[in-house]
Amino acid sequence: MIDTIIKNAHIITMDDLCPVIDGGAVAIDGAKIVFVGNSIELPPEYSTAKRVIDAHGDIVMPGLVNAHAHTAMCVMRGYADDLELNKWLFEKIFPVEGRLTREAVLAGVRLGIAEMLASGTTSFSDMYSNEPNTAKIVAETGIRASLSNGIIALGDGFRFETDRATVETLELIKTWHNYDGGRIRADASIHAEYTSTPDVWKRIGAIAREHGLITHIHLCETKKEYDECKLRHGGLSPVEALARYGVFNTPVLAAHGCYLSDDDIRILADKGVSIAHCPVSNLKLASGIANISKLVFSGVNVCLGTDGSASNNSLDLFEEIKLAALLAKGTTLDPTRVNARQALAFATVNGAKAQGREGVTGRIAASYDADIIMLDTHSPAMQPLYDPCSSAVYSAKGSCVKLTMVRGRILYENGEWKSIDVEKAMHDVNSVAVPIVRGQ
Ligand SMILES: [Zn+2]
Repeated sequence: MIDTIIKNAHIITMDDLCPVIDGGAVAIDGAKIVFVGNSIELPPEYSTAKRVIDAHGDIVMPGLVNAHAHTAMCVMRGYADDLELNKWLFEKIFPVEGRLTREAVLAGVRLGIAEMLASGTTSFSDMYSNEPNTAKIVAETGIRASLSNGIIALGDGFRFETDRATVETLELIKTWHNYDGGRIRADASIHAEYTSTPDVWKRIGAIAREHGLITHIHLCETKKEYDECKLRHGGLSPVEALARYGVFNTPVLAAHGCYLSDDDIRILADKGVSIAHCPVSNLKLASGIANISKLVFSGVNVCLGTDGSASNNSLDLFEEIKLAALLAKGTTLDPTRVNARQALAFATVNGAKAQGREGVTGRIAASYDADIIMLDTHSPAMQPLYDPCSSAVYSAKGSCVKLTMVRGRILYENGEWKSIDVEKAMHDVNSVAVPIVRGQ
């Protein structure tokens, strides 16, 4: 007998040929999806399961991929808002990060994962410190993640071999890369062009090449970053500078991309670089607005990220999905740009591709891992239901998520977390992290 059957659902498959199945069923055995189709076509061997869930017309879709997060930053949610970027970063965020203990970071990670699971995220790409310990929490909570510590090479005291980011990256590779069938991956990471040097880029590139890693980076977030790079690197843009030193010769996941010339976009497309669009963070910090429809048109793989909760202040990816579609329309004065299906692709298949998990997650299809979420459609805000893709993009919120499954394991259902003591997670953040953030 197989493990789980979900039937009578509107299934958003993200399959190009059959994007939506009404009255659909998904059969799950172990970590894998073994059947997707109409409920009345369930093969006899999949007619019974240890658990049969009748969706009663709810939406079943692939779990969301948050391709750019600093999960632990949820301990600073609401701590420093409405400030100019440099003041926010140098006077508020960096001093707190200098004080945060390992326990405070890990309390934030657990709370952030609880929030992601409850709002439909099944996989995230994280860039922060303490990642080998973060990996333990990812392992235990059952979510999927790509973890990295972005190297910052500023000051005379910097030594690549002994720098904390290098040490953590090597430990992640050794202990956690490809853990549990690839549920956890290690990523290489350069924090950004403006916080490091070509020598560091070459060394990180060598690690990425040797271990087959994706490199996670911040890229062209602000105009200041773009303009100052040209002064630092003889007229080269951040994309051109990083390309010159071979950073894009292995797969790269780059967050933001708000300032890109046509030449930059050509390089990104040629090199297969993925851009994690973070619309809420970019708007809140007034960094700029990435030209997503141009990136899509040029063949760049676009995915979505929340960025940290100090600049969002939420890990609800449904906000990014809707905003990605709306900003593409509003900035071009063309409502046909980035339609609902494209916006969903950003958050599912494209995110999976950016994480190196193409063919593993991001679709509801036989042989894919069972990373599945279910959206409650039985609420005033979700009725009537003409087109499940439209409802998922323009009407749904993270709070519509009633079930979240990763590799066949239900981690959140109807307000209950199965792998996290959420009361304790909230208590730990308030007792351990908040006093440090407040400077008490
Ligand atoms: Zn970021």
